[in-house]
Amino acid sequence: MAPRSPSQRGASAIRQANLREHNLGLVLRIIVDAGTPPSRADIAATTGLTRATVSSLVDALIAAGLVTELPPVLSQRAGRPAVPLVPASGTLAAVGMEVNVDYLGVRLIDLSGSVLGQEVRDGDFRGSDPADVIPELVDLYRKVTRTVDRDVRIAGAGLAIPGLVDRTAGPVRLAPNLGWRDVDIAALFRTELTTATGFTQGAEPAMLVDNEATLAARAEADALRSRGLHTFLYLSGEVGIGGALVLDGSVFAGRHGWSGEIGHTVIDPDGPRCRCGATGCLEQYAGKDALMRAAGLDQALPVDHLQRAAAAGDAAAVAAFEMGARALGTAIANAVNLVDVENVVLGGLYAALAEQLVPGIEAVLADRVLSAPWSNMRVRAAVVRDAAAMTGAASAVLGQVIDNPSEWMRR
Ligand SMILES: [Zn+2]
Repeated sequence: MAPRSPSQRGASAIRQANLREHNLGLVLRIIVDAGTPPSRADIAATTGLTRATVSSLVDALIAAGLVTELPPVLSQRAGRPAVPLVPASGTLAAVGMEVNVDYLGVRLIDLSGSVLGQEVRDGDFRGSDPADVIPELVDLYRKVTRTVDRDVRIAGAGLAIPGLVDRTAGPVRLAPNLGWRDVDIAALFRTELTTATGFTQGAEPAMLVDNEATLAARAEADALRSRGLHTFLYLSGEVGIGGALVLDGSVFAGRHGWSGEIGHTVIDPDGPRCRCGATGCLEQYAGKDALMRAAGLDQALPVDHLQRAAAAGDAAAVAAFEMGARALGTAIANAVNLVDVENVVLGGLYAALAEQLVPGIEAVLADRVLSAPWSNMRVRAAVVRDAAAMTGAASAVLGQVIDNPSEWMRR
């Protein structure tokens, strides 16, 4: 072989460095996603990397505080006891935040998935001004981050919004139930945080903004991974209704990240006016306000009032659930006919209402999904009941660290 020129050697060295960075991410991803903590030998077997390479990568991840060793366990196989590897706890964390129609929330989660702190504030943010809401959110952010151990490094913050978020340009395009349109929420947050804390330029956390249901579906996908469920249609019911299609463990985003707006799919073009401006959207039949209104209950009350009324045989409450289930079944059947998924997961308020909603939804699916006789459709309540969007927002930030840990290890 001809001797390589210095420039070729340079290119090769760059490739080697890239390869190591790639493999660091690969190994960390395996450790984070594993249902059972893997050993170095398990990772070598999964990846096809040599045992020596895996050990070197794992040692680097341990030194960086991203991975921890558990006490060794004797395996069935001969040789040294295996050392199970888990994501480190209490070292690197991300902030997950949410602005929704009736609450604001901030949650801090570390790589191991432990919640290090949380603040939720109830309110009514229909038709709100972002300039009023963001200072409240920053206040919660400061409360949560102030209380954690100084050794915890914060990788960044993710914010969940019930609306269309432009992934490429940053701003919230439209959040119908908040009444927000074309708001650069990340810039507002940064400015407010800088003012409130005296952060200097560049010291504020990296920030990611995405749709509430997209992020909640991400949290659910994280939770269902170890149960072997990787593909499902997710619905998040609040005042609005968000949706997301999870394919092989990842949320299908669409061209701009705007997919999943199942709440604005049409149930009846002649139906009531929706906050989005159109008529007869799913939200107007199955959103929280619509259900409470149909049952003759105050919209501000929690949904357990509706459940109790239906359980006591109140005709209006029973009819509200029937209307909601029929509308949800119709919208879900349309989606399933289009994309062919077997599993539907009900999140947000719907997780607690599954008992009232699922039979009615399944009846519509049996009638309307063309492939129903041959498929094994299942509608179930979400596993992640509490703060799913905040959890998903933190997971999205941590996901960026996991995909590229070497970037973080240099700091
Ligand atoms: Zn609508």
